[in-house]
Parts: sequence; structure tokens; C-alpha cells
Amino acid sequence: MDKRYREKYGMSMLENLETIRDSGLDHFIEGEREKWRCNQCGAVLSAHRDECLQCGEPYRGQNKIGTSSIT
Ligand SMILES: [Zn+2]
Repeated sequence: MDKRYREKYGMSMLENLETIRDSGLDHFIEGEREKWRCNQCGAVLSAHRDECLQCGEPYRGQNKIGTSSIT
């Protein structure tokens, strides 16, 4: 499951376990959803791209997505 999750979101499941434990899975998923949304057009972003596929707005760094585990 961890492998599939990582492929989908580009980050380690393990790193998020504490978040899930603290705030519950529903809250965690909601947070992830917000994180992967373009600030410019609101489109859902791909974890494997550095910019919005919809409008080209760069988002890496803005939302601080899983920086420690991606690199
Ligand atoms: Zn966009």
C-alpha cells in the first residue's frame, strides 16, 4: 500500500502517519486535497509535475509539498 501511495502522491506514507494519527484520516485527506490545488486556477495538481497542468502556474515551494521526502 505504501508503494502505491507513494506513486500516487510522490511522498512517503510513513511521513504522514503522524498527521493521520493526530487529526484523523478524513482531516488528513482534506489537507492533502487543498495542498494539491493550484493557487491560480484551482485545478487539481499532479504530484509529479512542478507546475499546474491547467494554467502552467508553478507551485512547488508555494505549498511546501513533502519537500523532505521528495528530494
Ligand atoms: Zn493552475
